[in-house]
Amino acid sequence: MADLKLLAEARRILANVTPLDFDCGTLCGHKCCTELSADPDQELGVYLIPGELPLFDGTEDWLKWQFHSVKDYDFAPTWEKHGQVPFMVCHKLCDREKRPFECRTYPLAPFLHADGRLEMRYAHWAVGFCPLTERYKVEQLRPDFVAATHRAWSVLLQDPEMRDHVTWLTEQFKALDELPLTACEDDEDEG
Ligand code: SF4
Ligand code: SF4
Repeated sequence: MADLKLLAEARRILANVTPLDFDCGTLCGHKCCTELSADPDQELGVYLIPGELPLFDGTEDWLKWQFHSVKDYDFAPTWEKHGQVPFMVCHKLCDREKRPFECRTYPLAPFLHADGRLEMRYAHWAVGFCPLTERYKVEQLRPDFVAATHRAWSVLLQDPEMRDHVTWLTEQFKALDELPLTACEDDEDEG
């Protein structure tokens, strides 16, 4: 069972902060919102975290819901007991006050070091998609945004399911870090 107080606090911390001094959507046409459902055969979207679904009452006209089975998609081990995880596919800009936690922290994601230190990194699913990942180092984003994402994820870490999620994300970062660069080198050879 998700801790709803922690969830509310984490969402509140990220309610009003933004990665840059200006609307980063002007750099890309709000790509992470408007392109999510551009290809109907390969819908991209946003997963809700446990406990977030009841915050939506069905009046949200900017999205379509999907529910992804834990048997067919990869999730943190403790999320598997939910059976399905809500997945939001947006076709226009949302009511910002209602946007889910994952949108609030995007494009940053947590990396949990062995000593317990939490680091905010560009989410690996944002790299190659969100232009911020190419134009700015994380430390060049607004410090209040980076600090707020760190605080919000630190709050969520107190929830066992979210700690498990962060551990699972961290393992993905590590696996990607360890990938050989052969593919890139091959690409360069071809160029
Ligand atoms: S977070 Fe990245 S993809 Fe989304 S609007 Fe900002 S720059 Fe564009
Ligand atoms: S919920 Fe809002 S911020 Fe999140 S992807 Fe949809 S339109 Fe963008």
